[in-house]
Amino acid sequence: MRFFSYFNRIFHGHPSASKLFVICSLSSGGLIAYADSPSKSGKSIVELNQKVPVKKRVVVLGTGWAGTSFLKDLDISSYDVQVVSPRNYFAFTPLLPSVTCGTVEARSIVEPVRNIIKKRNGEIKFWEAECLKIDPANKKVFCRSTVDENLAGNNEFSLDYDYLVIAIGAQVNTFNTPGVLEHCHFLKEVEDAQRIRRTVIDCFEKSVLPGLTEEERKTNLHFVIVGGGPTGVEFAAELHDFVHEDLVNIYPSVKDLVNITVIQSGDHILNSFDERISSFAEQKFQRDGIKVLTGHRVLSVSDRLINMRMKDTGNDDSIPHGMVVWSTGVGTRPVVKDFMEQVGQGNRRVLATDEWLRVKGREEVYALGDCATVDQKKIMEDISAIFKAADKDNSGTLTIEEFQDVIEDVTIRYPQVELYLKSKHLFDVADLLQDADGNDGVEVDIEGFKLALSHVDAQMKSLPATAQVAAQQGAYLSRCFNIWEKCKDNPEGPRKFKSGGRHEFRPFRYRHLGQFAPLGGEQAAAELPGDWVSMGHSTQWLWYSVYASCPSPTRQRCTAAACKAYSDAAGICSLRIFKSLVNKWERCIMKHDNIEDKLGEHYLVYFSLLQFQKRGSLGQLSKWQDIDERIKNKLRGFDFELIFKIDPRFYQNLRLLAATQDFYNVCQMCFVFKEGKLVPVLDDAGRITGISIDGKLVIGIDYKATYAENFAKSF
Ligand code: FAD
Ligand code: MG
Repeated sequence: MRFFSYFNRIFHGHPSASKLFVICSLSSGGLIAYADSPSKSGKSIVELNQKVPVKKRVVVLGTGWAGTSFLKDLDISSYDVQVVSPRNYFAFTPLLPSVTCGTVEARSIVEPVRNIIKKRNGEIKFWEAECLKIDPANKKVFCRSTVDENLAGNNEFSLDYDYLVIAIGAQVNTFNTPGVLEHCHFLKEVEDAQRIRRTVIDCFEKSVLPGLTEEERKTNLHFVIVGGGPTGVEFAAELHDFVHEDLVNIYPSVKDLVNITVIQSGDHILNSFDERISSFAEQKFQRDGIKVLTGHRVLSVSDRLINMRMKDTGNDDSIPHGMVVWSTGVGTRPVVKDFMEQVGQGNRRVLATDEWLRVKGREEVYALGDCATVDQKKIMEDISAIFKAADKDNSGTLTIEEFQDVIEDVTIRYPQVELYLKSKHLFDVADLLQDADGNDGVEVDIEGFKLALSHVDAQMKSLPATAQVAAQQGAYLSRCFNIWEKCKDNPEGPRKFKSGGRHEFRPFRYRHLGQFAPLGGEQAAAELPGDWVSMGHSTQWLWYSVYASCPSPTRQRCTAAACKAYSDAAGICSLRIFKSLVNKWERCIMKHDNIEDKLGEHYLVYFSLLQFQKRGSLGQLSKWQDIDERIKNKLRGFDFELIFKIDPRFYQNLRLLAATQDFYNVCQMCFVFKEGKLVPVLDDAGRITGISIDGKLVIGIDYKATYAENFAKSF
């Protein structure tokens, strides 16, 4: 704790001082060749040496989401681990947009790497440096310290590895657009966020100086965001709130001259989200006065102007700006590009790995997070081998039973099979072999088998460049490293259809927990697994799910920071209540994470209590004594527990309801009960008219009623 506050003080007081944390001593390369004098029992040194296993040298590049998640749970008893990263801290990127507007302090979202890698049973060495080159032929990486050149000592060094883990993320993609590097801000690092914050204030200060024309003031106060993805949209929303809640009070003379514009080359903002979310966000921005220019491609940026071309008409246009934030996807870092050329992947955009996160063509090099992509094996490439392995009696045809014998291995090895079944509403892989009338029992030959599986590969999707993916990959890989010895003798992976035997590990499988886009004004949009979409006020809370995969000290601090930000903004509730809410949400997500896709187990968490409070239907929550006794009695003892185990039927209905506003009427009710079995009460038409918990009707829903009326009915 003392270390951390010391770090904070130094780092935040003097940005360059953080560099002092580097430890300049170099490792000997890490091979532990333990030797002792001959023992009394007469055993020779050689014998003793043989008993001490030589630790494999693991070099990890990067301390972002993927790198720290790998290091966090790595058992270092059998590895000698060295970490290289130009930053000696982990940054919690989802809160970066909040740092730009001061909603959250920068120090709240960073965690010193040395805190994260501290281990009870040994040491992970950390070098604050940048990797400049990877030499896969000699298994070496070349690095250079990023610490001040004025300090004594050599800045360059190299490290040997047995295994290399590349987790260096990606850099901003400028698409080689002229002027972007010189005149735009980026939002990737903590320093970027702090710089943006200073520039926003500078724009306001400049615009209130005497002697400027109104046009000049307006130009200075035109904030442009290029890129309508989640980061650009969230920043635009944060900036809007910052301007309209804080800055207009400080600079009242220019409050009507502020403009925010989002430029997006695609037809919609948030186009990786469900359509309903895109249009919800666009409407919200329209209401807030944030201009959205879709179908516009930026051609160049100068210190005063952004030049763009409209895709539809081909016409060019330019707009003046005070500040531009460039947020248009990810590009490859030079060191990765160079490595890709060396391993024959020069024509690709990101480093390709197999499903075990091994770089293709380099078994001892792993790549995870934003710098890599998993190249999922197509089932059609192995179809003959699968058929042959399954056709035990060599009859040249497959029966359902024969197929069933390999089904488990097939679905583990080729996850697209399961996605395909879901898309076709089939329950069993064997259903694929049914004839046209839905009868099974028929035998298929190789051609029939190929036909049955011919559309499966169309379900393959590349994974998004998100913290969720990076963190899951890091955790997956550390597990593989931890159980490696065990799996050598007892492989846990699926069957190798072509070469025989088994894979040591199960392949990496991404579990999507949903995606979230805060839209300002305490509103957010969320897309959850199972086509579940939620938009509006309470959704803000769902956003906090991302904390579940964060290294824990940071998670606690970020949770607190986020809680504080939210409670400050909303002006309600005590931090304690907010903390307990978010902690519970985290727990719920953890549970969800552990369910392992068990059918029928879904959890719904809701925080709409705050909504009622905001809408005035619950009175002032902070003044407990003012709350109606009846309501108090209901709430007492529940500690605002918000975790529900949902009956699958309910879940199905929720999915239907998600498409309508009724969804809110249902969800807004679900907050005061402890974990229990939630069952929908349906009317004759199959509509949910109530919710019962453990057989007791607890909520009645009138679709025409207001939230407050429905709320009252539930007591
Ligand atoms: P990073 O986290 O970028 O880490 C890369 C690491 O490598 C860093 O430590 C860096 O210092 C180090 N490094 C760089 N170059 C070198 C080198 N040459 N040698 C050694 N080390 C090097 N994702 C979500 O899922 N949810 C969100 O809400 C979300 N919000 C975001 C908001 C913003 C503003 C941004 C920028 C991103 C957001 N993301 C979000 C995306 C998420 O941050 C990335 O997908 C994630 O950081 C990728 O993890 P990574 O470990 O691959 O890379
Ligand atoms: Mg057969």
